Amino acid sequence: MIPEHPSPAISPSFELSGPLPPDVHFSLQIRSWPIADADLDPDALKVVRRLLRFGHETYFVGGCIRDLLLGRHPKDFDVATAARPQEVKKLFRNCRLIGRRFRLAHLHFRDGKIIETATFRREPNETDDLTVAHAAENLFGAAADDAIRRDFTVNALMYDVTGQRILDWTGGLADIEDRVLRAIGDPHRRIPEDPVRIIRAVKFAARLNLTIEPSLLEACRTHVALLDTCATARMVEEMFKILRSGFAVPCLEMLREVGVLSRMLPAFAAIPEGGPDPFEGLRRTDRLISDGRSLSDTLLLAALFYPLCADLVNVDGDVAKDINERLDQLAAPMQFTKRHMGTLKSIFASLKRIAGGPRTKRMKKVLHRDYAGDAIALLELMDGAPAGVIAAWKKAMRELPGRPAGAGTADRHSTATLPVDAPGPARPRRRRRRRRRPAPGAPSDSAPTDTSDQ
Ligand code: ATP
Ligand code: MG
Repeated sequence: MIPEHPSPAISPSFELSGPLPPDVHFSLQIRSWPIADADLDPDALKVVRRLLRFGHETYFVGGCIRDLLLGRHPKDFDVATAARPQEVKKLFRNCRLIGRRFRLAHLHFRDGKIIETATFRREPNETDDLTVAHAAENLFGAAADDAIRRDFTVNALMYDVTGQRILDWTGGLADIEDRVLRAIGDPHRRIPEDPVRIIRAVKFAARLNLTIEPSLLEACRTHVALLDTCATARMVEEMFKILRSGFAVPCLEMLREVGVLSRMLPAFAAIPEGGPDPFEGLRRTDRLISDGRSLSDTLLLAALFYPLCADLVNVDGDVAKDINERLDQLAAPMQFTKRHMGTLKSIFASLKRIAGGPRTKRMKKVLHRDYAGDAIALLELMDGAPAGVIAAWKKAMRELPGRPAGAGTADRHSTATLPVDAPGPARPRRRRRRRRRPAPGAPSDSAPTDTSDQ
C-alpha cells in the first residue's frame, strides 16, 4: 500500500475549464449543510478522504446527495474527483478501471459493494482533437464542468466533505426545495443527446415524487421515438432499476402516459385500461420492497410478466411451447438476457406442478433446479397455492442438503430475502462486473453499454 502523507492544499475547481453551452444557466451556490458521517457510506467516505489526502479534489456527487436532501436513504454513493483514472488506480488496490469509452474507476468492497469513482469531465471545445477514439467522452475538466454535463439539476449537486457544504452550479438545491425535475440546459438539446434520459426523468419523478418541469416533459414526449435508437441493454438496465425501486407501478404507468411504454414493452402498452390489471404482480413486489425486502431480479421479471401469462401457467398439460412464445412476445423488443428469459420460461412451465406441493420424491427433484427458489417465491407472491403448500416447499427446501438460503437464480439481487427463508450455507457470490453508467452528457450512440462488462 502506498504510504499516507499529509494532503497538499487543494484549490477547488469551481470555475469552468471548458465551454459553457449557451442554454445552461450557470451560477455557483454554496450551502453549508453538514452531513453526518453515519449518513454516508463508510467505504465511500474512505475513498473520498484518501483521494483528498493525496491532493485530489473530490466530492460525493449525484443521486446520493439528492436522496439525502430529500430525506431518503441513498442506494449507492458515487464519487467525482479530479484524479485521473490511472491516478485512482494507483491509490487503491481494490480498483478496476472499466469502460472502453467512458473510463471509470470501480472500487470494490466487501459483499459486492462498488464505489464508482469518475474523473471530472468537460464539454469539448473547438481546439480539442476529437479524432482519437472516445476522445469526447474522456476530456477531463473541473468540478464545475462535470456538474453541467449531468442530466438533471437535482443530480448535479456535489458534497464537499472537508467544508461540509453543498456545491450547486445549476439550481438543483432550489429544485429540490420545489420538488421539480429540471434538465440542465435546453431539454430539446439534452434529451436527443441521450434519449435514455426520458426513462430516467420518469423514473425519478415517479420514485421521488417530483414534478417534471413542463418543457422537459414536452421534450420527453416529442423525442420519445429516439428511444428506438438506444442500445436496448441500457433500457433493460433502467427497467431493472424501475422494478427494484418499489415504485414500479407508478413508474410504468407514467411511462405509458408519456408514450415510452409502447416502445419499451409494446405488449403491455397495448392492454386496454379497465381490463385485467397487468401490473398486479408488480403491485405486490412494490409492497414487499417498501417493507424493506430485497427481491431477485428473476422474481421481479416474473412478477412483471405473470399477469399476462397466468392463463397459460395455470392450465394442465404441456404448455411450455406456448409459454415460451408468449414470453418472447411480451418481452420484445427489450433484450433481457438469455439466462433471465430461460429461467422465466422454466419457472412458468413448472409452476402448475409446483402448486401441487412437494408430494412425491419426483416432484421434490425440482428443488435441485436453480430456479426453484424463485418459482416458490412467485407462487407465494401471487397466492398461487395454499399457505400449507408454500410452507411444505419451504420446509423441503430447508431440509435439502447444502441448499443455500433463499436459493434462486444466481443473479446479483437474489441474495437476501426470497421468501424461502431457510438457513444454510451461503452460495459463493458470482462475481459480476457492473455495467458501465452512461457518460453524463454523452450522446446516445456513444453512451450505450460497455460490452466488456457483460
Ligand atoms: P439512482 O438512485 O437510480 O442510482 P442516480 O442519480 O444515482 O439514481 P445513476 O444512474 O446511478 O443515477 O447515475 C449517477 C449520476 O450520474 C446521476 O445522478 C447523474 O448525475 C449522472 N448520470 C447518470 N446517467 C446520466 C445520463 N444519461 N446523462 C447525464 N448524467 C447522467
Ligand atoms: Mg446511483
